[in-house]
Amino acid sequence: MTWRDEALCKGKHIDLWYPPLDASNQDEYYAVAREVCHACPVWRKCLNDGMNEQWGMWGGLTPLERSAFSKKPKKTALKPHGTVTRYRQNCYCKKCVSANEANKKQNKNIDVVPNMEDKDFDLFTILYQLLQ
Ligand code: SF4
Ligand SMILES: [Zn+2]
Repeated sequence: MTWRDEALCKGKHIDLWYPPLDASNQDEYYAVAREVCHACPVWRKCLNDGMNEQWGMWGGLTPLERSAFSKKPKKTALKPHGTVTRYRQNCYCKKCVSANEANKKQNKNIDVVPNMEDKDFDLFTILYQLLQ
């Protein structure tokens, strides 16, 4: 058994983690994936393995956000303090720790996230239902 067996994205639609390259709304795909990643028990291992991947969301971080770990981080790589993303970018300031704690208590309705075989889905609706 590997961490992938416990991944919350297992069997879910890959487009959410790897938005179509020609999609102008990549952030909307990532917004849904991010919420799933925030609830995922194996995010640390995932992020570790995907740290140097060029594409896709790993551990809840986009390629831009993961560049925070590289020698030459992109300018907008770091998310603001008080976010789960910044916590995952290794900031353990009070605000980031409390954002992480609050996130742990949040219930997410992962069932509403489309599976691989689902063809048409509306990203805003999924995001809304996910956070209900
Ligand atoms: S952190 Fe996100 S991408 Fe990684 S295994 Fe969990 S759900 Fe999948
Ligand atoms: Zn912080």
